[in-house]
Amino acid sequence: MGKRLEGKTVLITGASSGIGKSTAQEFARTSPKNLKLILTARRLDSLKELASEITNEVGSGVQVLPVQLDVSNASEVAHLIPNLPKEFQQIDVLVNNAGLVRGVDKVGDIKTADLDVMFATNVTGLINVTQAVLPAMKARGEAGAGDIINVGSIAGREPYPGGSIYCATKAAVRSFTDAMRKELIATRIRVIEIDPGQVETEFSVVRFYGDKDKADAVYKGCEPLTPEDIAEVVVFTAGRRENVVIADTLIFPNHQA
Ligand code: NDP
Repeated sequence: MGKRLEGKTVLITGASSGIGKSTAQEFARTSPKNLKLILTARRLDSLKELASEITNEVGSGVQVLPVQLDVSNASEVAHLIPNLPKEFQQIDVLVNNAGLVRGVDKVGDIKTADLDVMFATNVTGLINVTQAVLPAMKARGEAGAGDIINVGSIAGREPYPGGSIYCATKAAVRSFTDAMRKELIATRIRVIEIDPGQVETEFSVVRFYGDKDKADAVYKGCEPLTPEDIAEVVVFTAGRRENVVIADTLIFPNHQA
């Protein structure tokens, strides 16, 4: 598993919690040899904590760089790569994971602020980071196969009432990913989408504006996936040899089928 990822540089967005955090831990656990991890999100303190946890406890061979980044801020994203230390600038694997849902309002009651933040993060943010990383990946040509792994959602395939905007953002991620895969078919860049179903993370706390009781109620009586379940799939997918593309994965808990 670890061989393909040896010496690679992995950039993860939304690494301060949930799936992104677990993905960072899983990369470090399974592929520590000369791995470089760039952990990004808005909460720098959480990233620093995770960075020292990985450096001290998980794999001593891993270099970890925590970087504060709001993916929806185009200017911050444009400066991301040039501002990295030289040895971190060539990204081999991008995990576009940052995303959120806010509100459960039906159409007619949707708040503009919720609409804006979901599109700005889940769609524009993902595209911003992709565009920042892609030119260097492409420039490496044959020798420089890279992976762009987009975390979509089952919601992009199966829209549900009260989730119209979130579902629309994830359907947009799906279309964007498919089109990009076709555009990049002649390169050795792998374009991958991983769509989770229900996973217990801070996701529902964010959806209910920080109301933990409402968030906990979502998971009552069912057994959601853990962020580690998704992280394992992300790292497994990235760890396949260059000619193997696991392009599109849907992963959900058994009760959700
Ligand atoms: P979390 O809320 O635990 O994690 C979301 C991450 O995104 C956080 O690290 C957060 O960091 C980051 N983030 C949010 N907004 C921004 C921003 N503007 N710029 C940079 N980072 C941002 O939820 P999950 O781990 O569950 O979510 C990860 C991905 O998985 C999302 O794309 C989500 O849509 C998707 N998903 C989740 C499912 C679930 O049931 N949990 C199901 C299907 C898909 P910070 O606040 O520090 O910026």
